[in-house]
This record gives sequence, C-alpha cells and structure tokens, in this order.
Amino acid sequence: MLNIILGGAPGSGKGTLSDIIVKNYGLQHLSTGDVLRAEIASGSKLGQEINDIISLGNLIPDAQMIQLLKNYIASLPADCKGVIFDGFPRTVDQAHALTQMLDEHHMEAYMLDLWAEEDVIIERLLNRGKISGRADDNLETIKKRLRIYNETTRPISDYYLRKHKYFLINSNINPECTWSQMEVILKQLAQ
Ligand code: AMP
Repeated sequence: MLNIILGGAPGSGKGTLSDIIVKNYGLQHLSTGDVLRAEIASGSKLGQEINDIISLGNLIPDAQMIQLLKNYIASLPADCKGVIFDGFPRTVDQAHALTQMLDEHHMEAYMLDLWAEEDVIIERLLNRGKISGRADDNLETIKKRLRIYNETTRPISDYYLRKHKYFLINSNINPECTWSQMEVILKQLAQ
C-alpha cells in the first residue's frame, strides 16, 4: 500500500496534486476539508458548528478529527491501493493518532510536504476564493490560517523527518513542476 500524507500550508497545492496522484496511482483520497464542507452543505446542526469554526479560520478539535479518520480507515475497500491524506494530520496529536491507526493495520505513510512562498500562497487563495466562494478564502482569514499553520501544523514536518518518512517539494511554480518532483519520489515509494 502506498499511503501519502500531503503536507503544506493552505494554498500550497494539496488539492490539485491529490487529483493528479489519484489519476496516476488510483489511490483513495481523503480531503478532511471536503468531508467537513459536505457536512456543512448537509445543513445539519453539526455542520453549522463546523461552519462557525472553519469560517473563522480555526481548527476543528482533535478528538472530532481523529474520530473522522477512524471511521474513514474502517470504511476503506479491501482492494485499496493506498490513501492520500490531504489536510490530515494538522496537529502533532493527530499525527500520533494516524501513526497508531496505521500501525494497527500494519501500514505506514510518507509525508510529501509542499512548500511555497507566502505571497504566492496568498495570491492563489484569493484567486481561489473568487471562484470557490469559500468563506475562509478572504485575506483576514487566510492570514489567520497561515499563522495557525506555522504554529500548529508545521511541527508535523519534523515529526515525519525524524521518522525518516519525509520529502520536501517545491510547489512555488506550477502544478506541472510540482508533479515532476513528486513523480520521482512516488515511483521509488511504489516499488
Ligand atoms: P482545507 O480544505 O484542508 O483547507 O480545510 C479547511 C478547513 O477545515 C481548515 O481551515 C480547518 O478549519 C478544517 N480542517 C480540515 N482538516 C482539519 C484537520 N485535520 N484538523 C482540524 N481542522 C481541519
């Protein structure tokens, strides 16, 4: 099984690159942001609570996200070739929980960490906001999400680096350039 954690700040290209990986490797794609947005779209009470948190640029509590992950892993088909984790983990506690869950299933995961300059990221997210209409793609919320990323999510890179399961990828230019770096790594990992 090829399990990939796509790391990187909001706007670093995780969604775009996930689509390309799915097309080329047939992996399952877990975007926790998409799952949460689907809950919001359902109009449920839980969705409203999630919306209040997301639209302020804050993170959903770990316990809720870890339960979401548990349900997802339990629902994977028997012939699953692997998973792209896009947007999970976002805290070191989530990373520990993921490792534990993968260990229980005799699986492992490698982090491919997308890096792009802050100015580039902000421009991408503002442009995306014009099309997606996402409540969290406005300048004030973007800046908050980037601050939370730097303080809370970035330490995950060290967690995987220390496990020797870490690759840093330059995602500053365009998806084609990012994919060409990624493809070399995925070919090695898939062997
Ligand atoms: P994304 O689509 O990955 O940018 O996620 C959008 C928002 O969903 C984030 O800004 C968080 O509020 C929330 N979210 C997504 N994944 C997680 C996670 N693993 N832990 C906490 N909050 C999350």
